[in-house]
Amino acid sequence: MTQDPRLPPVGFIGLGIMGQHMAGHLLDAGYPLHVYNRTASRTAALVERGATAHDTPAGFACCEVVITMVGYPSDVEQVYLGAEGLLAHAKAGTTLIDMTTSSPELAARIAALGAENGIGCLDAPVSGGDVGARDAKLAIMVGGDVADFNRAMPLFQKMGAKIAHMGPAGAGQHTKMANQIAIASTVMGTCESLAYARAAGLDAAQVLEAIGTGAAGSFQLNVLGPKMLKGDFAPGFFVHHFVKDMSIALAEAERLKLDLPGLALARKLFDRLVEQGHDQDGTQGLFRLYGAST
Ligand code: NAP
Repeated sequence: MTQDPRLPPVGFIGLGIMGQHMAGHLLDAGYPLHVYNRTASRTAALVERGATAHDTPAGFACCEVVITMVGYPSDVEQVYLGAEGLLAHAKAGTTLIDMTTSSPELAARIAALGAENGIGCLDAPVSGGDVGARDAKLAIMVGGDVADFNRAMPLFQKMGAKIAHMGPAGAGQHTKMANQIAIASTVMGTCESLAYARAAGLDAAQVLEAIGTGAAGSFQLNVLGPKMLKGDFAPGFFVHHFVKDMSIALAEAERLKLDLPGLALARKLFDRLVEQGHDQDGTQGLFRLYGAST
């Protein structure tokens, strides 16, 4: 891939299901791309296309912007706050963008620490799944300083179709929690709808066709519903990541003194799925609890 010398060097940390596609779009757009991943072999495909691999986040000092797309809040802490981490090594004027689904409190803490050293930090989690990442159609919800947001916009536009500034640091993660809370009840509703259709002797695939364009239509019903019926539980979005997201959302709801029974029930059902050994499934694996036989 030809690099465009007018574009700033960009770092990308976390090359999993999502990050691999997202970083690839930046490479396609001509950004000089620097990459790092815990399991180093995951950098190979992007290096083959022209990216430069590093052994540690400390090597990213040459980048004007660094994007992170790791797994858990603990991974974000390590990458940003560790001795070899981004905040210890980034130059003043750098913009750091965390696109991991993580804790709003951690995002605010990282932004405050960055501001002390002239480093702009945005929280910019995404929605749209592996398909949205592949097709550069992600919804990107951003918290942090507006000037940093505007500076990052050309990069966001290479990865997403709907990009919104939601408020100060942490607001992007809070928006993502609102998204995950909606999904928690919708994925249960999709499973129950399909279990009911089968029990009533209907062709469940035909039911999906019939109701998918009506008021019940959703990503869960339209995209994951057919996978549930086929018994295709390969990840898109890992069960263990969704459990992580629900834990963050439940903790935030408790802090806000908010009772969310749908979310609490979804968490219980997904915990049961994990106990049965299915934490590496995609979230459509919930249908296993509803007698998923094809
Ligand atoms: P994933 O496939 O597990 O990718 C995460 C990547 O980050 C892995 O390659 C992992 O390395 C790397 N990583 C973790 N900790 C690291 C560290 N300390 N230093 C360097 N690299 C590190 O997960 P994903 O599905 O891409 O999801 C990434 C994030 O986006 C999660 O927070 C998830 O909740 C969120 N998200 C996912 C989706 C989806 O549909 N998949 C949609 C929206 C949001 P290893 O290769 O060593 O494991």
